[in-house]
Amino acid sequence: MSPFSFEVEARDGRARAATIHTPHGDLRTPVFAPVGTQATVKSVTPTQLEDLGASLLLANTYHLHLRPGAEVVERMGGLHGFMGWRKPILTDSGGYQIFSLSDRRRIDPDGVTFQSHLDGSSHRFTPERVVEIQQRLGADIIMALDECPEPHDRAANERALRRTHAWAERCLAAKTRDDQALFGIAQGGIFEDLRLESVEFIAGLGFPGIAIGGLSVGETKTEMLAVLDAIEPALPSDRPRYLMGVGSLEDFVQAVMRGIDLMDCVFPTRLARNHAALTPLGRIHLRSAPYAADPRPIDPDCPCYTCRSFSRAYLRHLVVAGEMLGATLITIHNLTSLISLAGRLRQAILEHQVDSFAASFLAAYRKHRLPEPIP
Ligand SMILES: [Zn+2]
Repeated sequence: MSPFSFEVEARDGRARAATIHTPHGDLRTPVFAPVGTQATVKSVTPTQLEDLGASLLLANTYHLHLRPGAEVVERMGGLHGFMGWRKPILTDSGGYQIFSLSDRRRIDPDGVTFQSHLDGSSHRFTPERVVEIQQRLGADIIMALDECPEPHDRAANERALRRTHAWAERCLAAKTRDDQALFGIAQGGIFEDLRLESVEFIAGLGFPGIAIGGLSVGETKTEMLAVLDAIEPALPSDRPRYLMGVGSLEDFVQAVMRGIDLMDCVFPTRLARNHAALTPLGRIHLRSAPYAADPRPIDPDCPCYTCRSFSRAYLRHLVVAGEMLGATLITIHNLTSLISLAGRLRQAILEHQVDSFAASFLAAYRKHRLPEPIP
């Protein structure tokens, strides 16, 4: 019997509260996955991640293939043993990173040849190779190889779709471990007809989960939400839906309201290393002078260790003095913001109150949001 199963406990409009059972424990949805690119979520320990309520981490196949190599990770007990994380892990396929190496890669129908950004060495990813690497890494959820083109280029998206679909079939055929769930990825840029075609094709292959790739890569928020609106009716209701690379507080709410169960993003951790903290009233930059003698926590309503223990004045001092603890404490807060938001959305869905919860959250967020660019 498969160690994976999926149950939807409640629906409220298009939003869902569900449970994904995995060999390393259950995921309650909606779920936000912090990103641990190099098998570490930068600046925090696995114990800190558990304490703040993280249930799923994402690690990057591209980076771990280049360094230290999947064979090393496999010998150390797979990612769980290697990085000391006992709950579920997801690995991406590396597709997104490779296609970002625009002048260092060559695509052909069989796969992609690329040069390492570390030392220029040459590597080749095919659908079969990407599945093999992810089987060695040993995450609970693994991803099919896909091509992620510029979202507004119709011809490029049509070509990429054919390749992504052929590669999805090859990934399924290559998979041999039955304690991992392989998710397929739908592409199609901002084009609703291509998106629908891709969702229907990928869902038809029988993947136990469907991911939406190629969003949050340069299109507007309006375009992203229009794609999610268009594809929602075509997404299978009996399988988890994963929106890749999306994770501001506002986008998280908007995507959950459109039927998404799972998201990951570097945004909260990257922002923390740039000294910016997420709050329900917008983002605050802790380096700013007005916080120098501010006795308040980042967010008085936040349950995290940072907000229970430290003032904005102390955090600003750490940041200005270049102390490592500053990044750690702000990361704990930012991840808690997303993970506790996911928990509150889940509760609202279970109580059939998600419309009013989302409306009041988004109204407060927009009213107070500072017009600041993402660093
Ligand atoms: Zn906090």
